[in-house]
Amino acid sequence: MFGIGLIKGLSVTLRRCFSKPNTVEYPEQRLPVGPMFRGGTLDLSQEKCIACGLCALACPNNAIELATEKTESGKKALTLYRHHMPVCLFCNYCVEACPTQAIHWTQNYEMSSLTYDEQIIDCMATKGGAR
Ligand code: SF4
Ligand code: SF4
Repeated sequence: MFGIGLIKGLSVTLRRCFSKPNTVEYPEQRLPVGPMFRGGTLDLSQEKCIACGLCALACPNNAIELATEKTESGKKALTLYRHHMPVCLFCNYCVEACPTQAIHWTQNYEMSSLTYDEQIIDCMATKGGAR
């Protein structure tokens, strides 16, 4: 029938006019990220970390820089833990390699910066990559 396409199109438009929007008004409104989100930076729990270095060993791109020292009790302790975001592949190997679940991804996806140095995150000094 002549004009059926037009009627169908208008009905879709009318339905959309009265339905809930699929978009949010960012940055005032933010959608929650999923539980499997990989991004932002590494959130390090210093209490859980045993300074074994397995995360850095598992990293294929040397994106984790860590240093350790021996404490008076003979245990290893972290002295440095940096996540180099510009070379990170977000492959998750480091998180999977950690035997104590000491590292997780932050839920922060607003990690852009003007300089390269700001992309190197000192995970011991920041909580969840907050700057
Ligand atoms: S996600 Fe992959 S590339 Fe990034 S720090 Fe972990 S192991 Fe390295
Ligand atoms: S693998 Fe886990 S426990 Fe070992 S140094 Fe890395 S964050 Fe710490």
